[in-house]
Amino acid sequence: MSDIVTMEKITSLCKRRGFIYQSSEIYGGLSSAWDYGPLGVELKNRIAQFWWKEMTQLHDNIVGIDAAILMHPKVWEASGHVANFSDPLVDCKGCKMRFREDQLEEEFRKNKKCPNCGGELTEPRMFNLMFKTSIGPVQDASSVVYLRPETAQGIYVNFKNVVQTSRVKIPFGIAQIGKAFRNEITTKNFIFRTCEFEQMEMQYFIKPGEDDKWFEYWKKERIEYYEKLGIRKNKLRFHQHGPNELAFYAKDAYDVEYEFPFGFSEIEGIHNRTDYDLGQHTKFCGKEQNYLDEETKERFVPYVIETSAGLTRQVLVVLADAYDEDEAQGETRTVLRFHPKIAPVTVGVFPLVKKDGLAELAKKIELDLREEFSTFYDHGGAIGRRYRRQDEIGTPYGITIDYETKENNTVTLRFRDSMEQVRVNVNELSARIRQEIKDYKRS
Ligand code: ATP
Repeated sequence: MSDIVTMEKITSLCKRRGFIYQSSEIYGGLSSAWDYGPLGVELKNRIAQFWWKEMTQLHDNIVGIDAAILMHPKVWEASGHVANFSDPLVDCKGCKMRFREDQLEEEFRKNKKCPNCGGELTEPRMFNLMFKTSIGPVQDASSVVYLRPETAQGIYVNFKNVVQTSRVKIPFGIAQIGKAFRNEITTKNFIFRTCEFEQMEMQYFIKPGEDDKWFEYWKKERIEYYEKLGIRKNKLRFHQHGPNELAFYAKDAYDVEYEFPFGFSEIEGIHNRTDYDLGQHTKFCGKEQNYLDEETKERFVPYVIETSAGLTRQVLVVLADAYDEDEAQGETRTVLRFHPKIAPVTVGVFPLVKKDGLAELAKKIELDLREEFSTFYDHGGAIGRRYRRQDEIGTPYGITIDYETKENNTVTLRFRDSMEQVRVNVNELSARIRQEIKDYKRS
């Protein structure tokens, strides 16, 4: 199975079926920026809703916020991004290509030779990844603002606001989903690494000394999350940051990695950020960012366990993991085996033929299902082709209305994965689909 899926196949399916398009394509495209089409936006929204529910509704003591993308420039001085959020950049003196030195293979890094043309590479220069712009009509040093490179700081600077207004008590978390921007030097692999992307972050505030316990707790929770999302377990692994990878403020850090067609790569970071961020904001804004435990009357600066996932990167995980090909009636069938909870369309509804009132009957059944499920009505072409079109966009259930429906009020319910079909009474359809979604297991 793993060799069936390639980045070319995913990219081309996404374009062909309206999941993801190149940004500004009619002008030749903007490299590394992507637009989500009708199915892509549904998939992305469903993943975001799934994460939000998992992280807020299903946990005690986690609340959400939605902070602005533009923040006071001091935030990024305090966080260390102005001074440190840089990648080492090298240029080829021959072909002028640009690389991140830390991403070059050992041999090229040592010999300072370009992997593209064998030319000589320059010494590394540090390149800050933040996009800088200005606010207001005058452009001077006082008008500088940055597009946020992570959503985490919006949470830290609202720590006191949330404590004072929402009655949360430590340990508690603040979750946020939103855009982040990084001027990445090397963008590649479709939506894996882009300059504009979305993050889903949750910062968990705890008592110092309890950090190891909560770190283990969140590691376990987060890996289980991906399994609930329908991602195959054998494609996931942890990677612990070694001393050279660990951010200077982090006490411990693990990446969750997924095996993409281009190899295992990071999809989420789980970090013990200690009291670094709140401590820095205390220094820079002059107001204590601490917490009073009302029972013990103890005042302290909380430690933070961060879980930081990429939403747009998770769209790629879901697509890569769902992509499959098998044989159906002597043809190769492309099928996206999405978990039904996140499939852009849940139920396809098809009249066997348009005539004899079957189309009207099918439309009526579809309208009833719409209240609860995302549906797609299709009466064009042979039934087999209609099934195939839905398989390719990952629709888990198909309903066919035929002459028997008129006689005994039953329809055919077809399952995407097994292609099996069963007859179900129309009155029991919603309940049956609801149950199927609940019990879904990928075969
Ligand atoms: P890298 O070292 O690969 O540049 P990072 O370790 O700096 O990434 P984090 O800052 O920990 O990444 O970001 C948390 C998550 O945000 C990542 O696991 C990833 O899912 C997502 N992410 C980060 N940068 C990008 C990007 N350029 N494009 C898409 N998603 C990103």
